[in-house]
Amino acid sequence: MPRKFTEKKLVIASHNPGKVFEINDLLQDFGVEVVSAGDLGLPEPIEDGLTFVANAEIKARAATEGSGLPALADDSGLVVPLLDGDPGIYSARWAEPGKDFDLAMKKIRDAIVAKGKNPEGQNAYFACALSLCWPNGEIETLEGTVHGTLTFPPKGKKGFGYDPIFVPINYQLTFGEMDQTEKHRISHRADAFQKLVNACFK
Ligand code: IMP
Repeated sequence: MPRKFTEKKLVIASHNPGKVFEINDLLQDFGVEVVSAGDLGLPEPIEDGLTFVANAEIKARAATEGSGLPALADDSGLVVPLLDGDPGIYSARWAEPGKDFDLAMKKIRDAIVAKGKNPEGQNAYFACALSLCWPNGEIETLEGTVHGTLTFPPKGKKGFGYDPIFVPINYQLTFGEMDQTEKHRISHRADAFQKLVNACFK
């Protein structure tokens, strides 16, 4: 049985105000007060895990140890099975230097072509691991996904990261073109959140 969250306060192990806002919104119904690792001045740990789950757990544990409070962390990325899972946990790093996602999307296209395959319509999915850690070290981690295909060139400016090359199953538009409320309803993060809420907040 997953542990239920009955505490009043939760640290979001993120320095990204957008993520903190989104998580706050999702947890509003459960009367949880949310503070961010950034606000508490907690350092960012080295994410040297080899899976989304491992990295989410590293971040959640570091925030719990640094604050003495329960903490929630996520780790996410785009997985292309043909590329042995790349960029995967290295999704942010593929855009370095300079957070250049045009470059990262081009690298994906080139890597698929180098395998002698057609980038258009290539299978891919976004994955998100969410970890909730308590001060006694107990941890619950849930994973969410959204499956789809890749399209080139990138289309749409509404999202971020790899959104312009990802078309979710049963849709015609990329994550970068579609209404963002709709994206947030079907995304890998939404899937992981729903699983976390069902496991620990109900
Ligand atoms: P992190 O979980 O904040 O470390 O994000 C890892 C990277 O995965 C981000 O920098 C994005 O490049 C990519 N990523 C994660 N979620 C999404 C998404 O919803 N759309 C596009 N890219 C994403």
